[in-house]
Amino acid sequence: MKLPELLVPAGNLEKLRTAVLYGADAVYTGYEGLSLRTSQAEFGLADLATGVKEAHAKGVKVYTALNVFARNSQLKAVSEAVRNLSEIGIDGIILSDPGVFQMVRAVNDRLPVHLSTQANTTNVEAVRFWRQQGVQRIVLARELNLKEVAEITQAVPEMEFELFVHGAMCMAYSGRCFLSAALTGRSANQGECTHPCRWEYLLVEKSRPEHPLCLETDLNGSVPYSYILSSKDLCMIKYLPEVLAAGISSLKIEGRMKSVYYVAAVTRTYRWALNAAIKGQNYSVPVDWWAELGKISNRGYTTGFYLAEDQVVTETNPDFGYEQTYGLAGTVLKYDPTEERLLLGARNLVTADDRLELLLPETTLLLDSSKMTDEGGSPITKAHNGYRVYLPLTIEREAKGLAKIDGGRNQQGFPGDIPEGAVVRKFLGQAPA
Ligand code: SF4
Repeated sequence: MKLPELLVPAGNLEKLRTAVLYGADAVYTGYEGLSLRTSQAEFGLADLATGVKEAHAKGVKVYTALNVFARNSQLKAVSEAVRNLSEIGIDGIILSDPGVFQMVRAVNDRLPVHLSTQANTTNVEAVRFWRQQGVQRIVLARELNLKEVAEITQAVPEMEFELFVHGAMCMAYSGRCFLSAALTGRSANQGECTHPCRWEYLLVEKSRPEHPLCLETDLNGSVPYSYILSSKDLCMIKYLPEVLAAGISSLKIEGRMKSVYYVAAVTRTYRWALNAAIKGQNYSVPVDWWAELGKISNRGYTTGFYLAEDQVVTETNPDFGYEQTYGLAGTVLKYDPTEERLLLGARNLVTADDRLELLLPETTLLLDSSKMTDEGGSPITKAHNGYRVYLPLTIEREAKGLAKIDGGRNQQGFPGDIPEGAVVRKFLGQAPA
């Protein structure tokens, strides 16, 4: 049996390496100017070639999105991109525009094509149509429920199916949205979404603009602002067996724009969960997995449209901004087992009072920030973004009082190695009740 794939976003080369380190089976990337994300989340050719080589060495596949709705002026770039991607050995191209599809076929008719969720595939006949065109995989629309998903996968078993299981959701149908273009001139369909659906809005009666209407009240009085257009984030971790039973072979996590910390935490959590779901018996989500997902940036979680047709799904919480209890402190540059210390490349302010946690693929270790030193070994109490600092870490944790605070269900004993690129997070504060 072909095992289901955990597919993780890789916004740049560092995130690709992070995804591989924490357990992705495959990653998806952008490509300069052609993949519905701003340049901050797109690869140049050289980085992508390096990423493909490194990922393949670990048995991880790399798919690249060329899912822009191309204008005539972009077609030359598309053609060039396809040639380049084909040469570096990309494992699949994700697209939604039939014109781009045609160009991929013209350049390399053996290159696997994955149809993006932006193509809104919602029924069996549409899947058959794309199969006849030679599409190998379809990213099904998030608006389907799992019953419809199962009907589709059973009807066209020769097609591979991918489904989003985690991450932010658009309030517009399959992300086809004009809000950003209308309000800011930056179009989501050209990869430049400014996320205005996440902003706060007022409801105003036309003749009384000076008196905005309150949409919600709380015990302290009125709350005039409201996130009325914003969806909670998708989270299907509790229902992975149901997702697999519906015939999905690739479980996709959203978030090419998210941080390296998000990639580490969400990848390892879904790795643990998918391994457990594949085993198939008494699947349940332990408290520490939920806790992990609560420690990354989120807007509260929902199961979206997947569970039932009549479910209230795209809940918009009138008083809910982003929630995040931990943030990126830095990444491991090197571990020195002789000196029993790790060299941290700080990416945010780190102080001697911070609660620091080192994320490893199978476990989490507390770090003692009060013993932080500079590279010369002198104690310091503060490290700013860009500093390189040492933190003590021994792998005989009991002897040195370090604590394992949570971890996966597939742990093979204590890790003997602290990999370069491992993520260290810091506590930011409790989420609002
Ligand atoms: S504004 Fe919101 S709904 Fe529209 S494309 Fe951007 S993220 Fe999606």
